[in-house]
Amino acid sequence: MTTELMFREDAYLRTATARVLAVTERGIELDRTVFYPQGGGQAGDGGRLLRAPGEAVEIIDTRKGDTPDRVLHLPAPGSPVLQPGETVTLEIDWPRRYRLMRLHTALHLLSCVITAPVTGGNIAPDKARLDFDIDFSQLNAERIERETNALIAAGAATETVWITDAELDAQPELVKTMSVQPPRGAGRVRLLRIPGIDLQPCGGTHVADIAEIEGIRVLKIRSEGKRNKRVEIALSGSG
Ligand SMILES: [Zn+2]
Repeated sequence: MTTELMFREDAYLRTATARVLAVTERGIELDRTVFYPQGGGQAGDGGRLLRAPGEAVEIIDTRKGDTPDRVLHLPAPGSPVLQPGETVTLEIDWPRRYRLMRLHTALHLLSCVITAPVTGGNIAPDKARLDFDIDFSQLNAERIERETNALIAAGAATETVWITDAELDAQPELVKTMSVQPPRGAGRVRLLRIPGIDLQPCGGTHVADIAEIEGIRVLKIRSEGKRNKRVEIALSGSG
C-alpha cells in the first residue's frame, strides 16, 4: 500500500480526489494525497476530507506512515468514519500551508546568509527557526534581515532536481543540515535549487519564486548550547 505524494510534483495543489485505502486508529490512508506529512522540520498539513454526501472529516495533522510513501491523515475526534474504497475530495488548509511554504523557503535563504553548519530546524505556520554551529558574535539580526530580504526582493525561481544516491555521495558538501540526513535507499534524492543561491537535499514544500516570501524579520537569536545558536524568523507581513 502506497500513497502518491502529489505535493512533491506540485506544492500548489490545494485539492484533489482520492480513494480511501485504509482506516485505522493511526489514521486514514489514501491512494494519493495533497497533504504534506510532518517531516524535515516542516509541520504536517491540516484540512478536510469531503465525503460524497457533503460530510466532512476534519484533518488535524498529517504524519508519515511506516514507509516514506505512506501517509497518515489524522481525523479530529468524533469525525465520521470513512470506509475503505470510498472516494473523498481533499482540501488542505491552504493559507496555513502557504505560510509554511514561504517560511520553509526563507530558511533555505537563511542557511546561505549565515554560513555555518545547520544543527537543527523547525517550520511552524507562524514562525520558523534554524540552529547553527556558530559563534554567537557572528550573528547579527539586522544584517541577517537585510541580506535575506535583499535576496527575497531580487526574486529567483526555485527548481526541484533529482540526483542519484551516488551523485549525492560524491558531493557531501550539499548536505548542510547535520541533524537531517536526506533519505537514501530509494536510489534518488530530491534537491531544491535556488539558482545562484542554494542547492541542497530537501523533501519539503517550497514557493515557486522566492519573491513570494515578501520579507522576513528576525524574532530572536539565542544560545541553545555551545554548538547550537538558534535564529528564529517570521514573515514580515503577517503576525
Ligand atoms: Zn526545503
